[in-house]
Amino acid sequence: MNQAEAAVAPGFVEKAPLERYVDPDRPSLVGMSRAELAAALGELGVPPAQSKMRVQQLWHWLYVRGITTFDAMTSVSKELRATLENRFTLERPAVVAEQVSVDGTRKWLLRLPGENPGKRPHEVECVYIPETGRGTLCISSQVGCTLNCTFCHTGTQRLVRNLTAGEIVGQIMVARDRLGDWPGERSPSDAIVPTDGGRFVTNIVMMGMGEPLYNFEAVRDALLVVADNEGIAISKRKITVSTSGVVPNIKRTGEEIGVMLAISLHAVRNDLRDELVPLNRKYPIEMLLDACRNYPGLTNAKRITFEYVMLKGINDSLSDAKALVRLLAGIPAKINLIPFNPWPGTRYECSDWETIEKFSEVVFNAGYSAPVRTPRGRDILAACGQLKSATEKLSARERMALRAMAMTE
Ligand code: SAH
Ligand code: SF4
Repeated sequence: MNQAEAAVAPGFVEKAPLERYVDPDRPSLVGMSRAELAAALGELGVPPAQSKMRVQQLWHWLYVRGITTFDAMTSVSKELRATLENRFTLERPAVVAEQVSVDGTRKWLLRLPGENPGKRPHEVECVYIPETGRGTLCISSQVGCTLNCTFCHTGTQRLVRNLTAGEIVGQIMVARDRLGDWPGERSPSDAIVPTDGGRFVTNIVMMGMGEPLYNFEAVRDALLVVADNEGIAISKRKITVSTSGVVPNIKRTGEEIGVMLAISLHAVRNDLRDELVPLNRKYPIEMLLDACRNYPGLTNAKRITFEYVMLKGINDSLSDAKALVRLLAGIPAKINLIPFNPWPGTRYECSDWETIEKFSEVVFNAGYSAPVRTPRGRDILAACGQLKSATEKLSARERMALRAMAMTE
């Protein structure tokens, strides 16, 4: 939204979805919860007395072994395998492109079915970031975003639609497929294993495209599948949902999902946050921090991460840094300073390195560890806020400009 539109409709902060998800004739079992699998089996005539055992078998094949064909389900009778295959698939989102950064970051462009067959499919991006001791997968919750933060490339896109729970879990399945991250599988020779003999994907962050708390039910259902300790088994402490501040769903995130929370704060005054994160007009800073103070399960060992993007001359003064630590006093918090990742047409610039260091010193002296998030995968446009699906394709020239900016930063 530009300034003129804002003046006409000061209350406008949310976009309506343009399309909806349409169930295919043969839905995929990938991403289904135990209850959904039980219902699917019931529909196929599996007697209730057998249901629990069959669900357990499917759960194992789907989420522990990561199988991609019904034939691989060797503990399931041939007859049931055939019946299943008649009605369902094991499809994941299709990989349209894979890019590998010089730093080992990998980015996948994934295709999801569009509302109208034959018309434009929907696309999202998913990024894998290996570090020493852990491998983080950054996944998307929407095609586009409901919101319109002014410094975010995704925010300039229209909201196409919410992802389904299956498509959210599907991103993790695809990443593990491509990394050879299932038992007994081979990995690509250039993939960096973050842990000794361990798994590639150890952590999940919902920091890709979209605002997860505007797609609450699907995000909840997906993350409960991912955290189930008899399946994909990524513990809730290693899953982080990042929100720009959808206050009514913050408490629900703690109660109904129980994962770690990150808040995209970015400003310490309402007038500035109204501009950077227009949702602030609906849920201002005080209201947001109140929801944080009351986040279920919040302790010093389970802190909220506050994200703060460093914008030159906008929010990066020392008085902003001091105000930030005052604002967060009393909340078990971590502060994550993110260097702004530029994109073509943006009105912002990243703060100078020296300014970021001074800012971080104030935060550090106030007792917070203040890691500056090193931009990863910039050469493949995989860094925060650069994700933008090909649903709104960049021109070749724009892409080159972006890449040049990313490489020279
Ligand atoms: N919608 C959610 C999650 C996705 S954005 C949210 O806003 O929290 C993930 C993080 O990247 C957020 O903290 C967001 O503010 C930040 N971000 C967006 N655009 C950015 C950019 N151009 N440079 C750096 N960080 C950016
Ligand atoms: Fe959406 Fe998050 Fe980008 Fe804001 S920062 S537009 S909420 S993806």
